[in-house]
Amino acid sequence: MVVAAGVLVLSGLVLFAAGIATGVTVLHWACVAVCAVAGFLLVRARRQLARAAAGEGARQGSGEGAALRRTADPGGPDGEPPVEQVEPPDALATTGLGDEVLVVDERPRYHLDGCPGLTGRAAVPLPLDEARADGFTPCGACAPDRHLAARARARRVPRDGS
Ligand SMILES: [Zn+2]
Repeated sequence: MVVAAGVLVLSGLVLFAAGIATGVTVLHWACVAVCAVAGFLLVRARRQLARAAAGEGARQGSGEGAALRRTADPGGPDGEPPVEQVEPPDALATTGLGDEVLVVDERPRYHLDGCPGLTGRAAVPLPLDEARADGFTPCGACAPDRHLAARARARRVPRDGS
C-alpha cells in the first residue's frame, strides 16, 4: 500500500515535470489527480497500521499473560490453541463435578472430545479438577469450561414448574 503510494507520487512528479517541459496543462491536472490518489492510499495505510497496533495492544493488555506463563506453557510455534477465556461463574460451576476432559502428555491444554487440537495425538481422559490441579489450562478452540458449565447448569435446572 505504502509502496503503491510512493510509486504514484513519483509518477505525479514525472507528470508535473513533463507538464512544465511541454507546457501541456492536462499533464498538470493528471499530476494533481495522481497525488490525490496517493494521498488517499497513504491515509488508508496509516489507518490500517494504527488499527493493527491497537489490536496488538489490546491483546497484550488482556491480563491472561501471567496465568499463561505460570503453567510453563510452551505456546506458539507448535500450534497449541490459545487458552480459553473462562468466566469465573463457569470455573465455579465446573468445580467438583467429576467431569472428564482430555489432555495430551507434554501439552498445556485440556480439551473436550472431538477438538481439532487433539487430532493425531494420544488423548488421556482426566477429571477436570485433576487437570486444573496439574496446571493444565482450558483449550480456547473447544472451550471445555464453557461447555461443561453449560452442561452442569442443564443438569441442575430446577423442576419447580408447579
Ligand atoms: Zn481443544
